[in-house]
Amino acid sequence: IKCVGILTSGGDAPGMNAAIRAVTRSAIYGGLKVKGIYRGYRGLITDEIQEFHTQNVSNIIQAGGTILKTARCKEFTTPEGRQLAYDNLKRHEIDALVVIGGDGSLTGARIFANEFNFPIIGLPGTIDNDLYGTDSTIGYDTALNTIMECVDKIRDTATSHERLFFIEVMGRDAGFLALNGAIASGAEAAIIPEISTEVDQLAELIQNGFRKSKNSSIVLVAESPVTGGAMGLAERVKNEYPGYDVRVSILGHLQRGGSPTACDRILASRMGAAAIDALLEEQRNVMIGIRNDEIVYVPFSKAIKNDKPINRELLDTLRRLSI
Ligand code: ATP
Repeated sequence: IKCVGILTSGGDAPGMNAAIRAVTRSAIYGGLKVKGIYRGYRGLITDEIQEFHTQNVSNIIQAGGTILKTARCKEFTTPEGRQLAYDNLKRHEIDALVVIGGDGSLTGARIFANEFNFPIIGLPGTIDNDLYGTDSTIGYDTALNTIMECVDKIRDTATSHERLFFIEVMGRDAGFLALNGAIASGAEAAIIPEISTEVDQLAELIQNGFRKSKNSSIVLVAESPVTGGAMGLAERVKNEYPGYDVRVSILGHLQRGGSPTACDRILASRMGAAAIDALLEEQRNVMIGIRNDEIVYVPFSKAIKNDKPINRELLDTLRRLSI
């Protein structure tokens, strides 16, 4: 391998820039050329590719978003689109790729790698933490801290009135942000998709008399359709448990923004360096993960479309601490 292409794809996440910097500098350190591909898979198809030197990634470790931009690209899901992408890679003499993104981006990477026998290493870049085989993903810690700060602020106003607050957080179909966000901010409960089919979490919450000893209650809700979202739950409370003064707050895109935390910068730096090590060791089609503070290689087939279990101990802790 002589030249590595790098791209960010799907939803952006804080820490992607730190990862771009780490991949670029480790590659150059290892004697490789680096090319930055703009707008994810779309830029591969439309040929938005530029050589990167160490100074291209100066002063970006602290910046949120991604300097490479990101996109969702329908064309890449077709064989014709992927053929165009492959032709451009060949023209630019790129012989390996590092793809930073979530489940969808790594699914695309896996298909492309198999189709053209092309070496790809994936980095888990998503605030949702929903990739299997890694304890954390790039962006998750920053989003969690943002959620915590927002909930702290909402609590100030919530305690001035007697209210039940549903705060909706991101996570797609995963409850990591909601559950850990609830613990970190001292919320009363989290309503998460992982246990939606097991129990009626809203009924349980109300039956437990969660509001008796407090003058306001904050419940974090994962955005998934399985939970009904914060709006859906508020509607249910109005119909099934009238008498509660319910308020909804949807945190939305601010969860994706901001300067990455130290944890995310370090994680992204380690993973970016590890991606180049993996390529030089002739690893292929793996995602870099971190488990028990050690870098691991997770085959794409395992990392994607595989439900990552939530830690039940966290659920129990939240329950015990919200009395
Ligand atoms: P996030 O979890 O933050 O939303 P993501 O990587 O899961 O990020 P997606 O929008 O699901 O985001 O996927 C990003 C891109 O990956 C898609 O726009 C598409 O170009 C590519 N992709 C996704 N699924 C496939 C697939 N089955 N085949 C080929 N390409 C795919």
